[in-house]
Amino acid sequence: MKVCVLSSGSGGNSVYIEAGDSAILLDAGLSEKKLSARLALIGREAKDLDAVFVTHEHSDHVSGLGPIVRKHQIPLYTTEGTMRKISHRAGRLPAWHPIRSEEPVTIGALSVEPYATPHDAEESVAFIIRDENAKLGHATDLGCVTPFVREKLRHCTALLMEANHDIDMLNAGPYSWPLKQRIKSELGHLSNESCGELLADVTHSGLRSVVLMHLSETNNHPEIAAITARQALGDSTARLILAKQNQPSELLSIDPSV
Ligand SMILES: [Zn+2]
Ligand SMILES: [Zn+2]
Repeated sequence: MKVCVLSSGSGGNSVYIEAGDSAILLDAGLSEKKLSARLALIGREAKDLDAVFVTHEHSDHVSGLGPIVRKHQIPLYTTEGTMRKISHRAGRLPAWHPIRSEEPVTIGALSVEPYATPHDAEESVAFIIRDENAKLGHATDLGCVTPFVREKLRHCTALLMEANHDIDMLNAGPYSWPLKQRIKSELGHLSNESCGELLADVTHSGLRSVVLMHLSETNNHPEIAAITARQALGDSTARLILAKQNQPSELLSIDPSV
């Protein structure tokens, strides 16, 4: 399996994943033009996507969704709750497949399992993705780590994990009081500290890569997020990568032997 975080943060989120001849996107939070341009940087094309999966209806995850699935006739996979929220603004959609927490969907060589996340959206999910070799755990846009989330993320070969904010920077920062409360709530976003606590719990000898996701440009510093995660990983040899808002990551190989 190979993964590229095309964009991550409140300005837009999208992750490209492939295995064998199969390729999918998780979320389409950039315009079709930008998503296609970023795919081109890794030598891939939107017309070759077999599916687009969506985590939830917030605009940083769906702003480019209608155009990309329409233009390239890509089947769309969302929960019923997400579809209720996006159907009126996404325009006509090609083929929609409802998904449910803990019911894996097979897309060629990939198995994509949605799992419910605590977030202030209608029926939000994150994903566990498997191919014959590896398990990728995706965990963004969650306000807290439930025992259920913790169990889902065990034994992963790689993790795409939210490290949204530093608590002190958020508290001292420019956001309004209600927005600060929303971000800190159990239905908001994961702090560096919570991310670190979760990483310390689920790390194991087979964990090869950790990508920190959805970093706030206002309430976080990449260095602080990285130091917290590195400390949490202890003596793990996992590679630590920070996903960016303005450029795609490398096309990472997710394989237990790499
Ligand atoms: Zn969200
Ligand atoms: Zn988001």
